[in-house]
Amino acid sequence: GAEVGFLPMNERRLTVLSGPSGVGKSTVVAELRRAHPEVWLSVSVTTRRPRPGEVNGVHYFFADGEEFDRLVESGELLEWAEFAGNRYGTPREPVLKKLADGVPTLLEIDLEGARQVRRTMPEALLVFLAPPTWEELEKRLRGRGTEPEDVIARRLAAGRVEMAAEPEFDLTLVNTSVQDVCDRLIALMTDPQGITTTT
Ligand code: 5GP
Repeated sequence: GAEVGFLPMNERRLTVLSGPSGVGKSTVVAELRRAHPEVWLSVSVTTRRPRPGEVNGVHYFFADGEEFDRLVESGELLEWAEFAGNRYGTPREPVLKKLADGVPTLLEIDLEGARQVRRTMPEALLVFLAPPTWEELEKRLRGRGTEPEDVIARRLAAGRVEMAAEPEFDLTLVNTSVQDVCDRLIALMTDPQGITTTT
């Protein structure tokens, strides 16, 4: 009927930002954290070691493998995935709480995690962050050129597979500038018309 396509705001306000590795998701999230306190960023649990400057409870909750197993077994994670030899997961409870309070909520997770959210929370808005061009992503994946050629070849192959996930998403944002992506994301997450005015 007339309400086809309508989603209650607090359900629609779960937004997932995903995309190929190297596309710049974490830069976007850093800018959101700095400039947009009105959006709540889920803090993931990870088994990887903290990088310099990362704060436990802010950027991640750092956990050992045993603790992560316990979270998986007790069903406390909304989704989880293994990425580059480490595990990452989204604590379920805080996300449900924020959504219940009507707070726009963002998960920045890998493609496998995004697929899980698609299944368990079909109302979520899945956003694919794409590079402006394949060449741009290739440059990022090649890095400083210090890695052996076989490592780079593997990264490029993985990048091509990751780019192929784009049609699974509700919409694509092209990472032409961090500012532009942030503006569009904020519009999507906070403006009731955002979903129809931004593509
Ligand atoms: P990094 O180790 O560089 O912080 O993150 C590596 C990858 O893990 C990124 O693609 C990031 O989006 C993803 N990631 C971070 N947190 C989560 C999470 O809770 N779940 C899933 N599935 N992926 C995550």
